[in-house]
Amino acid sequence: MRIAIAGAGAMGGRFGYMLQNSGQEVFYIDSWQENIDKMKTDGLTIDDNGQERKIPVKAYHAKQIGEEKADLIILFVKSMQLPEMLRDLKPIITKETKVICLLNGLGHVKTIEQYIPRPNIYVGVTLWTARMLGPAHVHLSGDGNIELQNIDPEMEEEAKKIADIFNAAGLKAKYSQNVLYSIWKKACINGAMNATCAILDCNLAQFNQIPHADIYIRNLLNEFVWAAKTEDQVELDAEEVFTVLKQTFDPSRQGLHYPSMHQDLVQNHRLTEVDYLNGYVWKLGREKGVSTPYCEMITILTHGKETILGIS
Ligand code: NAD
Repeated sequence: MRIAIAGAGAMGGRFGYMLQNSGQEVFYIDSWQENIDKMKTDGLTIDDNGQERKIPVKAYHAKQIGEEKADLIILFVKSMQLPEMLRDLKPIITKETKVICLLNGLGHVKTIEQYIPRPNIYVGVTLWTARMLGPAHVHLSGDGNIELQNIDPEMEEEAKKIADIFNAAGLKAKYSQNVLYSIWKKACINGAMNATCAILDCNLAQFNQIPHADIYIRNLLNEFVWAAKTEDQVELDAEEVFTVLKQTFDPSRQGLHYPSMHQDLVQNHRLTEVDYLNGYVWKLGREKGVSTPYCEMITILTHGKETILGIS
């Protein structure tokens, strides 16, 4: 199977590497010129749980894809890069090309269906992680899994085949009967702490120690619970999400971790995905005439910090 990795960053590198190792024909598409140049000359360097490996890869700049066609495209850009990447992918898409989106955040199907027929769209969430050490250099650690599902009810068997491809590569994929629930749950968890840690410049354990943290978190969770029900009839259990969050704050678990928006904004001065988490809930609230003050404030402050850092 010819698999295109659209967005050869941290997660694209992880998935491409593992799929290539399992014998799939993988090629990488990216808009970061230095990344593509290095992949072409030196291959992809993977730091896999302390062991460094270099693998030769086929890589294209998104504006110069050439003659390749893909059977499956795995999207792994940041949310705000998605529309442009989908436009650039046009030359490699056939009537049969399937597209799977494992991005964090909300609202991606609405974007993808402007470019791809619904029967070919698959979505999911993943608990795999990865980190970029530099151009064409990806750090992998820990374990993970994937939940995925078809958008078109007729395409369940095809979704299961995609899960089989991931499983053959050790990516631990499970077919989900209700992936929307998992997508909203992950967005809710991220929305309750990710941007705030970037604004406060703190890790999860430190965030948990601020006065009134529990009240603040519960207010954010309630806004996500409302949004999930309003947009997708998903019944999130705020208490369950609160319990998961409190466990992750434990320093002996993920408490010392700085979430992705902290890594993007504070550590690397890159734009965040806030518009696809808290910003998405705020936008839905405005459309429905419902106030979502916590998501509104977090979104405004995150963009404010981007402006102050000169990256907006
Ligand atoms: P990433 O930033 O590593 O890669 C996304 C894009 O940004 C790629 O096109 C990449 O080439 C480009 N990029 C990366 N570093 C750059 C730099 N220094 N300069 C210029 N361009 C650069 O993103 P990711 O972490 O792979 O995330 C992709 C999606 O997957 C996001 O929606 C994210 O939320 C989600 N996700 C990430 C992880 C994780 O552990 N990284 C885990 C689960 C889900």
